[in-house]
Amino acid sequence: MLTDDLFSLVMDVKLTSCSICPWQWEEVSGYDENMNTIRTYQVCNVFDNNQNNWVRTKYISRRGAQRIHVEMKFSVRDCSSIPSVPGSCKETFNLYYYETDSDTANKVSPAWMENPWIKVDTIAADESFSQVDLGVRVMKINTEVRSFGPVSRQGFYLAFQDYGGCMSLIAVRIFYRKCPRVVLNGAVFPETLSGAESTSLVAARGVCVHNGEEVDVPIKLYCNGDGEWMVPIGRCMCKAGHEALENGTVCRACGSGFFKSSQGDHLCLQCPINSRTTNEGATNCVCRNGYYRSDSDPPQIPCTTIPSAPQSVISIVNETSLRLEWSTPRDGGGREDVVYNIICKSCGGGRGGCTRCGDNVQFIPRQLGLTETSVHISDLLAHTQYTFEIQAVNGVSDQSPYSPHYSSVNITTNQAGKGDSHSFTLLSKYCVPVDICVSRTPDSITLSWSQPDQPNGLILDYELQYYDKSMAEWNSSVVRSQTNTAVIRGLKPGAIYVFQVRARTVAGFGRFSGKMYFQTMTEEEYKSSFQEKLPLIIGSAAAGVVLIIAVVVLVIVCNRRSSERTESEYTDKVQHYTSGHRMKIYIDPFTYEDPNEAVREFAKEIDTSCVKIEQVIGAGEFGEVCSGNLRLPGKREILVAIKTLKVGYTERQRRDFLSEASIMGQFDHPNIIHLEGVVTKSAPVMIITEFMENGSLDSFLRQNDGQFTVIQLVGMLRGIAAGMKYLNDMNYVHRDLAARNILVNSNLVCKVSDFGLSRFLEEDTSDPTYTSALGGKIPIRWTAPEAIQYRKFTSSSDGWSYGIVMWEVMSYGERPYWDMSNQDVINAIEQDYRLPPPMDCPSALHQLMLDCWQKDRNNRPKFSQIVNNLDKMIRNPNSLKAMTPLSSSVHLPLLDRSTPDFSSFSTVDEWLDAIRMGQYKENFANEEFTSFDVVSQMTTEDIIRVGVTLAGHQKKILNSVQSMRAQMNQITSVEV
Ligand code: AMP
Repeated sequence: MLTDDLFSLVMDVKLTSCSICPWQWEEVSGYDENMNTIRTYQVCNVFDNNQNNWVRTKYISRRGAQRIHVEMKFSVRDCSSIPSVPGSCKETFNLYYYETDSDTANKVSPAWMENPWIKVDTIAADESFSQVDLGVRVMKINTEVRSFGPVSRQGFYLAFQDYGGCMSLIAVRIFYRKCPRVVLNGAVFPETLSGAESTSLVAARGVCVHNGEEVDVPIKLYCNGDGEWMVPIGRCMCKAGHEALENGTVCRACGSGFFKSSQGDHLCLQCPINSRTTNEGATNCVCRNGYYRSDSDPPQIPCTTIPSAPQSVISIVNETSLRLEWSTPRDGGGREDVVYNIICKSCGGGRGGCTRCGDNVQFIPRQLGLTETSVHISDLLAHTQYTFEIQAVNGVSDQSPYSPHYSSVNITTNQAGKGDSHSFTLLSKYCVPVDICVSRTPDSITLSWSQPDQPNGLILDYELQYYDKSMAEWNSSVVRSQTNTAVIRGLKPGAIYVFQVRARTVAGFGRFSGKMYFQTMTEEEYKSSFQEKLPLIIGSAAAGVVLIIAVVVLVIVCNRRSSERTESEYTDKVQHYTSGHRMKIYIDPFTYEDPNEAVREFAKEIDTSCVKIEQVIGAGEFGEVCSGNLRLPGKREILVAIKTLKVGYTERQRRDFLSEASIMGQFDHPNIIHLEGVVTKSAPVMIITEFMENGSLDSFLRQNDGQFTVIQLVGMLRGIAAGMKYLNDMNYVHRDLAARNILVNSNLVCKVSDFGLSRFLEEDTSDPTYTSALGGKIPIRWTAPEAIQYRKFTSSSDGWSYGIVMWEVMSYGERPYWDMSNQDVINAIEQDYRLPPPMDCPSALHQLMLDCWQKDRNNRPKFSQIVNNLDKMIRNPNSLKAMTPLSSSVHLPLLDRSTPDFSSFSTVDEWLDAIRMGQYKENFANEEFTSFDVVSQMTTEDIIRVGVTLAGHQKKILNSVQSMRAQMNQITSVEV
């Protein structure tokens, strides 16, 4: 219990006596029981009747107390010890109080009587005294305590009424009670005054200690009338990542190598095997490279890895059925949930090429997720070679970038099958990987084709039928081949021939394949040195249009070095340009009949053994993005970024994924991300690029808010503009230029990236940055109005996006148009509103942004002009000093949100979040900058004192404080 004195008579003895009373209390010296001299107020007029003697204290402020306690020390003379005392002699006196808001009492007011005064009690002595020793009265001192309440005025007076006694008032202490500040059940409770009644309970809300949080119900304690805490309700516990120390009064962050996954009283646990923490206060431990946790694994169990291959595979073939048995892998990866998948491949004709089996093959009990170590397989084709891979997978196989380990077994079935179909395809590739090639000369073509899917027994031979496309079909010739390869000679140079093939078994001929078109070489081609690189014309009868396009591709590709090439109707697909005396063509990979062709043309195939994946650094559209090392034969090892294609991809996803490499591989510029190569011949499929240590520009700027000089920022912008100029010169339109698609390396060099086309092709999206529009998805905030309205994507629309990137850079990664909806952005732009200059943005740069956002796209600056403009600014930094935004009648700035309106926030914390300085919340709270009133008065020294050390952050906070002050002044003057 704590008490606070409001008044003490001993220290302040002056009392006011009643002027009209028959007798007065007198201030005299006396002795206490220990014979110490004391000052007392005395009255002793027992011989006169009708006594009514009052004395009153000075005005006493209530100071928030609701119940007042009065402790009185006094002595009373025993009436019987006074000789000849009349019957009216009293041994008691009365205690009164009078409440008022100000010290207005005088000699006559309040009137010296009950009502207005309120009586507290009649006070009687426990002991009276009678002795007189050596003429000195030895007093018996009584102590009595009385209390009264509720009091609600600003203050009060006390009065003592004697009505015919003989007594001394020695000391009066007036106080109230309060419960002290305590830390209990993980929360801090503030000092709390007792309630108005002695039985009152005053509820106090506790605040959890730092890094603690409430469990279920709000935490409370009650302060009783005696100033004691009671009835604790609720409690706080340390948050995940923190453990309780010092009796629950402190929550300390888990140290390195320790974690705590949930709220509670328990201590931090050591990281399980194969995991580690990356920072203090960890709520879980991340798995080491190559180890994983499944979604259902609790955080305290070790990280595990994929299982090794199943062992000792046995196959028992029975005609067209098969039983496979195996034993469990040597290493289950540390898990108990190993299951098996069977991959069936049929390998026809001894050529070595294998294809996945069709759906007709039966697996009992099933093909995937086998818990047992055997499987029965039936309905295989007769006389066919098969390879069965038995994969071991467990609960973390999905998370590994590598395909599962497997053991394989080769078998050959031995009885005639039931199928009667002979269908197969002629290989539509002039040079497929593995070991099949088609070659050509001016008078011959060599062809290979794949085995039929269901040969219905042994293939005896093949029949190839062909004719000159310019002639009638009945002119066709026939050749026979016992293998799936044939050389056709005696052809005309530069002529297109149509081919079809069919197979023969004991049951007779199967159906012909579709028609395929191949062209012999011209004599010039044959002589030319780059003969081997030229693709053949390939097409099928079912896709005559594709044939024509393929011819065009061929013509353009073949003539790429010719400056006399005439404009073709396919130039929207095959982009080209003339720059000085050099000619460069950006070729859209989708103009290739077979996009794999484009990959082979523009991206180097890398052997997977040269690539070492280190760790996952991001999530791409098609799979994880990892960092790692690349060591090409004879070259030194370099750091690379590796984009992987997730397992289970469709053929279309593979094509779209690799299209980025086909595009990137055509570029070569210091401000364009550089493609090292691709891995397509083994799983996982990968795109390997140079590594950019600082990741994407938008998050890099947000992490380093306010920390660069204007010249550094302009340097970054210059790099991006130079990269865009190069793309523009290549006639390549990016369509998604945004800070998130710029990568930054350790030297702050910015490079344009993200050449994926897929999002422009697909309709559905879960990413709100991209809004579906007819014919593709559009990042509204970054896109020029004409591209949004009628899909006019040009290098001028890229220029608009560049202006938005400038704004993102100068505002350190702020979201363009903040939280406005896409539709509001479109409307605002239509009404000529434009983004205002970010904080501290030189007006020259904002002017350049406004130029990029010209409505008429022909008025926007070209990238070459932007580069020149930025170069001038870098050479003449004085041009970047002017900060006042240039006023423009055309471009109305949107409401300037770089310093948000503080009145829209209810707490300083919310305001700090809004100015993106949320990391300083605790610093502000610790130094008690918790209300807008105090924050608005902050000076630079205050900002430094709360612990903001970065100059950029100091400036940002100071600017926002100044704006808050200005907004406050405005509010005040409006109210006045
Ligand atoms: P993307 O699929 O290109 O959007 O890449 C996804 C994320 O992976 C990016 O936002 C980057 O954080 C990271 N990333 C991609 N490429 C690289 C690279 N070359 N160097 C470093 N990080 C990269």
